Amino acid sequence: MKKVGFLLFLVVMMIAFPRMADASSYSAKIYLDGQELNLSSGVVVENQNGTVMVPIRVVSEQLGFRVSWTKATQTVTVQNSVKNVSMVIGSSYATIDGQRVQMTKAPVLRGGTTLVPLRFVSEQMGLQVRWDNQQKAIYLQSTGSGGEAPGSGNGSGTAATVDGLSFNENKLMVAVSGNARANVSTLSNPDRIVIDLTNTRFSDGFGSNNNFNSVSQSGQFTVSGYPDVKSVRYSLFNENPMTVRIVVDLNYAKNYTVSGLENGSGILTVDLNTASAPNPGTGGKKLVVIDAGHGDQDPGAIGVTGKREKDFNLQMALKVQRLLQQEPNIDVVMTRSTDTFLELRERAKIANDLKADVFISIHANSGPSSASGTETYYYHESDKALANALHKEIVQAIGLRDRGVKYGNFHVIRETNMPGALLEVGFLSNSNDESKLFDPATQDRVAAAIVRGLKNYLQVN
Ligand SMILES: [Zn+2]
Repeated sequence: MKKVGFLLFLVVMMIAFPRMADASSYSAKIYLDGQELNLSSGVVVENQNGTVMVPIRVVSEQLGFRVSWTKATQTVTVQNSVKNVSMVIGSSYATIDGQRVQMTKAPVLRGGTTLVPLRFVSEQMGLQVRWDNQQKAIYLQSTGSGGEAPGSGNGSGTAATVDGLSFNENKLMVAVSGNARANVSTLSNPDRIVIDLTNTRFSDGFGSNNNFNSVSQSGQFTVSGYPDVKSVRYSLFNENPMTVRIVVDLNYAKNYTVSGLENGSGILTVDLNTASAPNPGTGGKKLVVIDAGHGDQDPGAIGVTGKREKDFNLQMALKVQRLLQQEPNIDVVMTRSTDTFLELRERAKIANDLKADVFISIHANSGPSSASGTETYYYHESDKALANALHKEIVQAIGLRDRGVKYGNFHVIRETNMPGALLEVGFLSNSNDESKLFDPATQDRVAAAIVRGLKNYLQVN
């Protein structure tokens, strides 16, 4: 039965996609730093008019980059410690750290496998790429490897070094010796501070106590206890000119002051304790934390047609965020704005550390297929007014059964110190609810309803 089914599938595929024959598929050899990658059988590399396309699995498993896939938006994201490349199936535009960049070929789906242009992805992730047409082989070279020690070539023998790096008292401190030049800039979406140190490499001793991978010349650590900052990442960003890049990932845009390195060496300090920088939620503004439930390896509930709760939660949360960003009297902070996973206690901690005014966790429900409608949960008595205000508007906007405002012992609303509500907007296990939950126009209406309810509750204009 299974075999017949598969043959039938093949025939259908051949009828449906006769153009597949245009792309030559073969088992190309891929070398990373001189070592041939051990591609498992069945991994097919395609050459589309000179653009070599590889399964995304090769990028994650063999090249070691972090890969995530969002089915709802058909988006594949490749990340290392400094770069974030997002590509959408069928679109020849990639988004790199928020910037639109054209690719030679769009990513494609082949029988459930995503193929991406190897050269584009590799180069963006900092690998050098050489294609040997005669041998049908691809040579990838990672920075900091391949014979020459970093700092030994390209006239960079006099490169300055980063000797140490720490984050303490809401300050990033970088110890530099030699003649470095620092360029500090701010990027948004997500908010971050980028420090480029040109004519600089990591010192040989840097790796021993800085959570540093000396092969990839990169490292990172998570920052806890400071609500402004999520993490600090650092890598040898470029070899010519030799450049160390340090990225401070922020929870929201924040002013800072830079000092040090007057003579190119010493301690470079990026201080987030600056008085001129209003923290979110200050200056009369209300601070709202929006929490998209689940994420990454935790899909949450699975809908009747296989749609995932984590995707709905994130889509809704991002829509609410966009609306709140236009509100002059409200600041918004997201617990996650991508397909990532946070522990429940991390979500509550973000809101508590920030001393937020309101916490809203967005979810979708699951139950018997007959179950339908909207529920809103509170834990503390002090959550009730918020839950009521949100529920009333959401029920009206989505038009599903009103299942009421209920008490629920959920970690995120139990452990948050401010009024909080957990929304179960509809049931993914019900086909009518599911299609509404993933309908963009309905999502827009629900997002506007959440903002309306929130503003009524906060009594802000
Ligand atoms: Zn959930």
